[in-house]
Amino acid sequence: MTTDTPPELLPERALRLRMAGLRRTRALQAVLALFDGAPGWSPTHAQLAERLQALGEPVNAVTLYRLLERLVGAGLLARRTSGAERVWRFCMPALAEAQSPHGPLFECDACQRQIPLPEDDPAARAVAEALRQTLARQGHQAARVDLAVHGTCADCREADA
Ligand SMILES: [Zn+2]
Repeated sequence: MTTDTPPELLPERALRLRMAGLRRTRALQAVLALFDGAPGWSPTHAQLAERLQALGEPVNAVTLYRLLERLVGAGLLARRTSGAERVWRFCMPALAEAQSPHGPLFECDACQRQIPLPEDDPAARAVAEALRQTLARQGHQAARVDLAVHGTCADCREADA
């Protein structure tokens, strides 16, 4: 097993598409090709739409949105937001992992969005410090505290209401 799988094969991708019930539409192929061509890219929905338009493969905004959701659901794309931006960016899952911030994180169980807490958030810092002290009392030395809080994000709660 080598790590440099030829891009045209990607049996795992084909499998994931099948399992997610995603049809290999023109739009889907165009979107995946864009990410394959620029592995470090993490565009917003609007930037992707613009790019597809420029390539002569325009995709309706709602269609593109649904397609991206399903690609994220199938694990073929990752979605993240940088705290201040309040807008989703899409990227290859490996990139999201490499860039995932260490530190307190809120993860929505409904949409899988990960929302990092500001690093200087006093509450998060206090929790990390309390944990460090508990461990210290037990004789352990904590090097890093990665907190993950699971729940339902504001957008999903609103959509649910
Ligand atoms: Zn959510």
